Amino acid sequence: MSHPPIILWYRNDLRVHDSEPLYRALTTAAPILPVYCFDPRHFGTTAYGFPKTGSFRAQFLLESIANLRQSWQHLGSNLIVRIGKPEVILPQIARQVNASAIYFHREVTAEEVAVEKALQRAIAPLNLQLHSFWGHTLYPPSALPYPISEIPAVFTHFRKQVEKKSTVSPPFPSPNYVPPLPDIPIGSLPQLEDFNLTPPLPDSRVALAFHGGETAGIARLQTYFWQQDKLQSYKQTRNGMLGADYSSKFSPWLALGCLSPRYIYQQVREYEAQRVKNDSTYWLVFELLWRDYFRLICAKHGNAIFRQSGLQGVNIPWKEDWQQFALWQQGKTGFPLVDANMRELAATGFMSNRGRQNVASFLTKNLGINWQMGAEWFESLLIDYDVCSNWGNWNYTAGVGNDARGFRFFNIIKQSKDYDPQGEYVKHWLPELAQIPAAKVREPWKLLPEEQQRFGVKIGVDYPPPIVDLFASAKANERVYKTAIDRHR
Ligand SMILES: Cc1cc2nc3c(=O)[nH]c(=O)nc-3n(C[C@H](O)[C@H](O)[C@H](O)COP(=O)(O)OP(=O)(O)OC[C@H]3O[C@@H](n4cnc5c(N)ncnc54)[C@H](O)[C@@H]3O)c2cc1C
Repeated sequence: MSHPPIILWYRNDLRVHDSEPLYRALTTAAPILPVYCFDPRHFGTTAYGFPKTGSFRAQFLLESIANLRQSWQHLGSNLIVRIGKPEVILPQIARQVNASAIYFHREVTAEEVAVEKALQRAIAPLNLQLHSFWGHTLYPPSALPYPISEIPAVFTHFRKQVEKKSTVSPPFPSPNYVPPLPDIPIGSLPQLEDFNLTPPLPDSRVALAFHGGETAGIARLQTYFWQQDKLQSYKQTRNGMLGADYSSKFSPWLALGCLSPRYIYQQVREYEAQRVKNDSTYWLVFELLWRDYFRLICAKHGNAIFRQSGLQGVNIPWKEDWQQFALWQQGKTGFPLVDANMRELAATGFMSNRGRQNVASFLTKNLGINWQMGAEWFESLLIDYDVCSNWGNWNYTAGVGNDARGFRFFNIIKQSKDYDPQGEYVKHWLPELAQIPAAKVREPWKLLPEEQQRFGVKIGVDYPPPIVDLFASAKANERVYKTAIDRHR
């Protein structure tokens, strides 16, 4: 007797390599129906009114789904694509093919968990099982030395125990073949226009031309690790801001699950065996552990990560100054390092980690603006938006995270000196400052009128004066922050 089919529900796990739901479904010998639903809610607006999925990420998502379909076609099957809510679409398909189960990777944050619950309710009248798997991290909760409820509040404590006591499992094997689909329309791939989005304009200044899908993700790893040997110097270069290779750029593929962290880990170990094992190879895994940590913290604390008072629950009187916020968004604050990074984000959907830390510090510690506005702006624009990493990092930088180190303020001028000593990065994004010598480009407001003339820039005309005094604003916001913390204790 033939087995009733199993639906494989794809979400942020757009790959066939290292997929436990796929692997487990195959062991049942049942026909498998892989399904992706473009959920209209993902294309709505955030609380502050930004497009929830901007065109950079939407484009990357469409490419990833097209590539996933190709992967399934190569395996002898196909990917079913629909536009609609999973809790509506999946039960419909289940009825159509008389499916016995839905296999999927579970998520940990509010909106995603709400969909899982809605699906559970919708299938209650059907004779259908839901099987969820944990697959987004290096370490699943079952491999941790403590239950999720006891995950340490400090990353270093988490990391040290995990490094000592836990091991990373090998990736699940990729199949060579899967049985063909039963007779069902596969559905055509939507276009950006279907979500009222226009294709992002190409920008030759982009750090890396990201293409969605596991094929491109694996190719990036091949290039970064094996062809260019960049992994061996990652620790020294990772704080860079300019170019494709100062860091791995794996994040967009990790965020949509086109690359599995366990696959990256396995490749790091392979690289260590074949090429070199050093502090750089360790450090890439260290950064992946940060990614794990934020997801596990979200699993532990539920919705707390999204509230204004953050994981700490500390009520800071943040401002909602839309005029200043708009200058930050547009890269017109008068601080070149902030402006270059914000313009890179707006033009390409990407920003380095160093950049993100600086612009987030500036928004919260200098402008005193509600960090949630910044987090939502990142959510809208980032090609690598990951709900846990984004909101977790914003909690941390705003000083409201569980591992917050008090009022940590980035001195933008010193950061420019340390991480962009020649001013190449800021000049790349702010051509109006191109002729200013490196030593002066960090503080263009200090240029004398004759220097402005010599360097072809008029402050207040070609480039804005600073919107705040860097140190006075930080001092004022530090007082506000400390008062709130004292009241909280
Ligand atoms: C305010 C703020 C918001 C952020 N939002 C996101 C986000 O939405 N999505 C996202 O993937 N990362 C986010 N990050 C983390 C980090 O900036 C990016 O992961 C990194 O810049 C991506 O580039 P990469 O892949 O070249 O990183 P690499 O330096 O090559 O690191 C390898 C991988 O490690 C992980 N990683 C590195 N640093 C961090 C970190 N601080 N937190 C969590 N994971 C990390 C990422 O998966 C990354 O791809 C944010 C950081 C800040 C300060």
